[in-house]
Amino acid sequence: MNATQTSTPLTDIAAILRRAQRVLAICHISPDGDAIGSLLGFGWLMHGRSGTAGAGPTQERGITLACVDNVPTPYRSLPGATEIISDPPDWPWDVVVALDASDPQRLGGLFRPDRYGKTPIINLDHHVTNLRFGDLNYVDTQAAATAQIMVDLADALGVPIGREAATCLLTGLVTDTLSFRTSNVTAQVMATALRLMEAGANLAEITEQAMNYKPLSMMRLWGLALARVRLQGEIIWTDITGEMRAQAGAADDGDGGLTSFLIRAPEAKVSVVFSETPKGQVEIGFRARPGYNVSGVALSLGGGGHPQAAGCTISGSLAAAHTRVLPLLRTAIDAQNGNLSVMAHMGFEVKPA
Ligand code: 5GP
Ligand code: MN
Repeated sequence: MNATQTSTPLTDIAAILRRAQRVLAICHISPDGDAIGSLLGFGWLMHGRSGTAGAGPTQERGITLACVDNVPTPYRSLPGATEIISDPPDWPWDVVVALDASDPQRLGGLFRPDRYGKTPIINLDHHVTNLRFGDLNYVDTQAAATAQIMVDLADALGVPIGREAATCLLTGLVTDTLSFRTSNVTAQVMATALRLMEAGANLAEITEQAMNYKPLSMMRLWGLALARVRLQGEIIWTDITGEMRAQAGAADDGDGGLTSFLIRAPEAKVSVVFSETPKGQVEIGFRARPGYNVSGVALSLGGGGHPQAAGCTISGSLAAAHTRVLPLLRTAIDAQNGNLSVMAHMGFEVKPA
């Protein structure tokens, strides 16, 4: 456990959760494997509190799991996924738990503090940009995934991790670390993965389901976006327009990992994908090489994320987004190049941000 000082101890949070009868857990919009995996894992842990039998994670004591957006296809076969609802009632809840969300906007319409009355909101997350919007906040920025925090929560609750919870939580760990390839994968992360495998999670199956999924339409969309990729300084970037999505027959849900793909280019320190949304906004995904940090730029644009993977959504045209965002990144890279070279010159070991 490496939660920052402003965090509520997990034991205090566990004490509340152990007593709570009616629990609403929510995760962020456009959910990824960690959002869904943590939500379901949390449901199974809550289910396991009393040890009595039930068919799924929400079958007893009023556990409700909710996400505004649909569960993406690769996660639909996770145990309990069919129990996630999109429009939960406002009350009465004993506690509302937000998972994997760095700010309230990321929870979409599900964050309704004005309608929860005195219900405490617990914010469990691992983003460095987390705004501590809960009544109780546990933010562990060293955790590679919110799923890893769920494992610590299981220990704080004294609840054993069963096969279902382990499968959901290992999915979160695998997806947020891109199959254990990100720079925040420590020995502790691998120990958590081992523990989840020993609890019954099948790593090969999870990897196949969650990581080897790229529909043909998304491949076609990548083709169109890659055809117009640009390198400016150390920034590699491209666009996804509504027209390109229509041409490729691709749904309006993310870039399928294109930003992570682009950062493989050795010429780049930062990758960016600008995606037009039907609402006239531009969704922007950022990735950075180890040693560089894009979370600050994302936060300054109203978004958030991690040092090496962040994002935001801004209004306006694609061209306006380029004009606004690319210079910010250039400045950030220059500053970080400066910091790295000064530190190296002073004899410090230069490590990833
Ligand atoms: P992706 O590029 O995969 O959509 O997002 C990468 C990271 O940035 C994730 O950790 C995600 O939570 C964060 N992120 C992406 N878009 C937004 C956004 O609009 N707001 C916030 N706060 N974080 C975002
Ligand atoms: Mn996450």
